Amino acid sequence: MAEHIDVLIPEDEVERRIGEMAEQINMEYADRGVHLICILKGSIFFTCELAKKLTIPVTMDFMSVSSYGAGTRSSGVVRLVKDLDEPIEHKNVIVLEDIVDSGHTLHYLLHNLTQRNPESLKLAALLDKPDRRVTDVHVDYTGFTIPDKFVVGCGMDYDQRYRNLPYIGVISFDD
Ligand code: 5GP
Repeated sequence: MAEHIDVLIPEDEVERRIGEMAEQINMEYADRGVHLICILKGSIFFTCELAKKLTIPVTMDFMSVSSYGAGTRSSGVVRLVKDLDEPIEHKNVIVLEDIVDSGHTLHYLLHNLTQRNPESLKLAALLDKPDRRVTDVHVDYTGFTIPDKFVVGCGMDYDQRYRNLPYIGVISFDD
């Protein structure tokens, strides 16, 4: 089955928007600094690009959860694959997600991380697909709102491929 990738959001637009998000975070956290939690693997590019544009004190940690198999639909069951290395108590945390789809992953993360008593906890997502939401999650910083399409690039994969594309693309399949 042949795969096609059509550009949905070009590289320069992604970069510009992440810059705007960083500016907002720089202003809102100017007096505190921020502890970024990158949700592996999809958020790695978003995290790097955003972190490079932050001028406030930044610390970072990494967590990995899984809710997808090799296909394009969420199973709804979220599993912790790799936990944080450091406690987040008294820290001003921003969780960085590549994309919010059903909302299961962020719902799980919010519940899990709130119990660790951070000073504050906010959520940032490069992409939001609100049409597919089945849980009520509030995203504090959203890059782009997109239609219900399966996207790849900027860290996001299809079957572990295409994460390295510098733009956001929509994947389609020929029969
Ligand atoms: P949710 O739990 O909100 O349904 O899904 C969140 C996770 O599913 C994302 O972090 C991402 O790993 C994956 N996901 C959701 N939609 C897409 C998509 O369009 N493309 C890719 N590559 N992954 C997606």
